[in-house]
Amino acid sequence: MKIKFIGGCTIGKPNLIVISHNKEGIVLDCGFQYEMPEFDKIDDEIKHIFISHAHADHIGGLTILKRKFPEANIYMSEPTKDIGKITLGSLEIKSKYRIPQSDIEEVMSEVKVLNEGEISKINDEIKVQPISAGHLLGAFSYLLKIDSSYILYTGDISLTNLPLAGQFSPGYQDIDVVISESNFTLGEESFMDSISKIANMVISTIKTKGKVVMPIPAAGRAQEIATFLAYKMIQKEMPYANIYVDGSLKDVIKIYDKYSYKLKGPLKDYYINARSSGIIKAIDDETRKNILNSDTPCIIMTTSANLKHGPSLTYVQNIILDERSLILFTGKVEEKTLAKRILNSKKGELIDFYGVALGRKCNTQLVETNEHGTVGEYLRLLQKSALRGLLLIHGNDIIKDYVTQFLLKEKRGLYLNDPKDFDVINLDYVVRLTKKVAENIDVEIIEFIIEKIVDEIKREYEKTRSLSDAYFIKLIEEQDIYSYIRNKENAKELFFIFFRYATKISYNKDEGWIDFRFVSLILEKVNTIIEEIMGKGITKELFKQLNDTAAKFFKNIILRGGTMKAQLGINIPSKEQLIKTLESFEKNFSVFDVKSPTLDEIEKLCRTEAIQDPSLKINYEKIFGKK
Ligand SMILES: [Zn+2]
Ligand SMILES: [Zn+2]
Repeated sequence: MKIKFIGGCTIGKPNLIVISHNKEGIVLDCGFQYEMPEFDKIDDEIKHIFISHAHADHIGGLTILKRKFPEANIYMSEPTKDIGKITLGSLEIKSKYRIPQSDIEEVMSEVKVLNEGEISKINDEIKVQPISAGHLLGAFSYLLKIDSSYILYTGDISLTNLPLAGQFSPGYQDIDVVISESNFTLGEESFMDSISKIANMVISTIKTKGKVVMPIPAAGRAQEIATFLAYKMIQKEMPYANIYVDGSLKDVIKIYDKYSYKLKGPLKDYYINARSSGIIKAIDDETRKNILNSDTPCIIMTTSANLKHGPSLTYVQNIILDERSLILFTGKVEEKTLAKRILNSKKGELIDFYGVALGRKCNTQLVETNEHGTVGEYLRLLQKSALRGLLLIHGNDIIKDYVTQFLLKEKRGLYLNDPKDFDVINLDYVVRLTKKVAENIDVEIIEFIIEKIVDEIKREYEKTRSLSDAYFIKLIEEQDIYSYIRNKENAKELFFIFFRYATKISYNKDEGWIDFRFVSLILEKVNTIIEEIMGKGITKELFKQLNDTAAKFFKNIILRGGTMKAQLGINIPSKEQLIKTLESFEKNFSVFDVKSPTLDEIEKLCRTEAIQDPSLKINYEKIFGKK
C-alpha cells in the first residue's frame, strides 16, 4: 500500500492524494486552486474518490478526474454534494476548463452519500467512517480501514467550535497514521476573536449610518460571520441592520437552510431564527436596486472575495465614494486584484476601477480570519491524542516546522513527516513502524547494529562485487533498521552512520587511502529505504548535507583529533593518498550531485584547528607540509 501526494502538501495548491492498494487507487480530495492538480501523475486505476468538503481546493477538480476515470465511485456528505455543485459551477473553474453544466450535474448525480459516524463497507478490504470535521456544513474527515490499517484523513478541520459548523471531533480512535492539514495560524488570535473584531467594525459603521460591504467566499466563513452578527443583534449587543447576501452566497444559504438540522455549532438556532425573521436575507434584483439607492445602513456579504467579478463589484462601486461606509475583507487578498489595489490605497487616492478612476472615500479594513485554528490549539489536541503516525500537509512550512520541532521533543516515538508534492510513501512500512513502540531507541545500539550489517554486506560484496536490493532489504528488515526512521532527523542520522561505517570498512590500510565505491553503493540502498518511509523529497537533503559536510569529514580523518568516532581509525599517510581518496569520493558521489571538497578547503579547516590545538600540528604537516 502506497500513498502518493499529487498536490496540496503546501497551502495554495489543489489537494489530491492517492492511496494505492492492490493496484486500485483511492483518491482523497481532488481540488482546484488557481490550477488543476497534475492528473498525469496518477498512475493507478482510480476506483474510489472521497471528497472531504465543498471548498474548491478540495472538490474543484472532480469533474475532470471523473472524466479520466468514469468507473470511479464518488463519496461525500449530502450538503457537500449540494454546495459542491455550486463550487464546481463557479466561473473560475467552469469557463476556464470549458466544463458544461450538464457534466457537473451528471457527475454529482452519481455521488454516493455517506453519513457521519456510519461505517460503510467499500469493498472486502476497505471500510470508511466519516467524522465531523467542523469547518463547513457537511465537511468530513475520513477514517479509513484498509486491510488492518487505520488511516485518518482530516481534510480541513476547525479546532475552535465554529458558530455553525462546530468542531473537529475525532473521538477516541486507535489510528495508525493521521494525514492532517496544517493550515493554522501562529498567533493566538482565534476565529472568534477575529469575528468579534469584525462585529465591532460593523457596529461603528452602522452607528455612523454607513453600509458594510464584505466581499467574501461563498461557503463557510460568510455564513459563520452572518450568524454571529445576527446573534449580536438578537442579543441586543449591536444595533439592528439587515444582513444581505448576494452572489453565490444566495445559493449556498439555501443549502444551509435545507440542512440546518445538520449544523452543530453553538449558534445554529440563531441562524434558523435570523433566516425566518429575515435578519439574514437573500437579495433579488428588486432589493438590490433599493439597497443601492437607499441610505439605510446595512451589511452586504457577497462574492467574489477578491472583486474579480460578481455583485461585489457593484456594491463596492456604490459605496466607494461614501465616507461613512466600509469595505471589509476577511481573508488574504490576492495580489494584482482590485481588492488589493483598494486595500493598498490611501483615502482620496484614485483607484483604477476597471477603467474608471475613482477616489476612495469609504473606509477599508482587513481582518484575517482563520476557521482552522491556531497552532497552539492544534498542539494541545495532538498532546491529548494517542498519536502514532502523522503526515502534515496543506499548510505553510513555518507552521509545519513549528509543529515538528514541538513533537520531536514531546512525542519521541512518533512517525512524523511533512511530505512534498509528488512524494510517494510506503504505507505498509509506515504502519508497521507505528505499531511498534519506539520511545527509547538508543543511537549507540543502532550504531552497533549498523556496523555489523555493514561488515556482513562488505563480505558479501567482496564475493559477488555487487549488492542486490533483496539482500540489502532482507538484512535491514531482519535487524529492524527501518523502525528507526521515524522522522527526518533520525533518517539523516541513520544515513550518516551508514556513511561512517561503510567508509571505515572501505579504508585500505596497506595502501593508505579510501575507495568510496562500496560506500556509494550502500548509501544508494540506504537512501532507497529512507525514501520509502520519508518520500523522495528527502534524498536531496541527505546528499546535500553530505556535500556540505565532506570537507569537515576529511579534516577529522586527517587531523585524527576529536573522538574515535570521527577518525574511524583511518590514517591517510600522504598528500598523494589524500588526492587519490578525494578522486574516488568525487567519482562515486558525483551521480548524487555531491562534489569532493578541494585540497584548499580541507587545508584551511585543518590549519585553523591545528592552531587551536597544537597537538594536531604533526598530523597537519604530514599532509600539507610545514608552513
Ligand atoms: Zn476548506
Ligand atoms: Zn483547504
